[in-house]
Amino acid sequence: MKKTNWMFLTHILIYTLTLILFPGCTEKEATMKQQFPVQKSDAEWKKKLTPEQYRVLRQAGTERPFSGIYTDNEKPGVYRCAACGAELFRSESKFHSGCGWPSFDSAAKTGTVILRPDNSLGMTRTEVLCANCGGHLGHLFDDGPTATGMRYCINSESLKFEKKDPAE
Ligand code: FE
Repeated sequence: MKKTNWMFLTHILIYTLTLILFPGCTEKEATMKQQFPVQKSDAEWKKKLTPEQYRVLRQAGTERPFSGIYTDNEKPGVYRCAACGAELFRSESKFHSGCGWPSFDSAAKTGTVILRPDNSLGMTRTEVLCANCGGHLGHLFDDGPTATGMRYCINSESLKFEKKDPAE
């Protein structure tokens, strides 16, 4: 067999072994490279967002508990992504969880948020991202008190509240 063929086969073998031995790595890599409809460079996001919004939305930061402007908001309306404007949550699904962050028992529509595993800080959690721009919103827990059993724990910094006109 030619030398080039052996090299090709060796590469295939190494790639296959990597997939078998480290499936998590390749899966995570695929998620990280996921393309979202709204694409902006890091410089563009920095220009568009406040420093705190950028830290939360683009660097997966977390605002201090009970510090966000929407934690106790009870007005009727919709919560949009502070980065791209996509509708994410509705006031009807908001509840007081006592955790210190705005909490919702469901997303506004199917497909408005995406979920992915987050193993940072020594914890196993589910990260919630905007499906339109990939912005970090918060985390999802399955200890909600309502029928859905879900608690979307979301940073106020990631949201922009749009009050519903009472006449509507
Ligand atoms: Fe977004």
